[in-house]
Amino acid sequence: PNFENFKINKQLLDAVNEAGFSKPTPIQEKAIPLALAGHDVLGIAQTGTGKTAAYVLPLLMKVKFAQGQHPRALVLAPTRELVMQIEEAVVTFGKFTDLRYVCLYGGLGPKTQIEKLQQGVDIIISTPGRFMDLYKKGEIYTKEIKTMILDEADKMLDMGFMPQIRAILEVIPVKRQNLLFSATFGAKVERLSHEFLEFPERVEV
Ligand code: AMP
Repeated sequence: PNFENFKINKQLLDAVNEAGFSKPTPIQEKAIPLALAGHDVLGIAQTGTGKTAAYVLPLLMKVKFAQGQHPRALVLAPTRELVMQIEEAVVTFGKFTDLRYVCLYGGLGPKTQIEKLQQGVDIIISTPGRFMDLYKKGEIYTKEIKTMILDEADKMLDMGFMPQIRAILEVIPVKRQNLLFSATFGAKVERLSHEFLEFPERVEV
């Protein structure tokens, strides 16, 4: 199988080729068609498997074809470092699109992040705490978020982010596509997956 076999458009395919990706990794092979078809996906995959591209490519496809003024996708990750790695993938694969994104994380003042939100973004990549802070300040319009992704869910739970994740689920639309990626699948992640995912397709590598 090749990236050409996926229902992704030329702009994304060109970016994939330019990134030097010649063929999909196993998690990409399994997860990309399911995500593109609109399913909720439970992905059990470690870092290094290509999990980021497995959800970023479908995410870019979906956001691109659901044009709008407000954020339409939210990716939550446990740490600033992971947020920045996800940003790299969004930049790499989104380079031939005009999609706008913002990275939100703590440890620095929110001024620049708020300015970017006010200019308008299509995709938000965030840690749970900073997302909720800026939401409470009235800086995030959540009503058009149609796709939500939790990356490294096990790590988010270990870090105690469950209350923030629950709070975020309360303020974004119920009707949406959900993708959950985790390196491990223990009791806590299983519980989260029941709360968060609807009839998920499970993919594992
Ligand atoms: P990840 O598991 O998402 O952290 O990705 C691990 C590394 O593999 C990253 O540096 C990606 O750029 C790279 N990568 C992901 N998918 C592919 C692919 N299909 N072909 C070559 N490299 C890839």
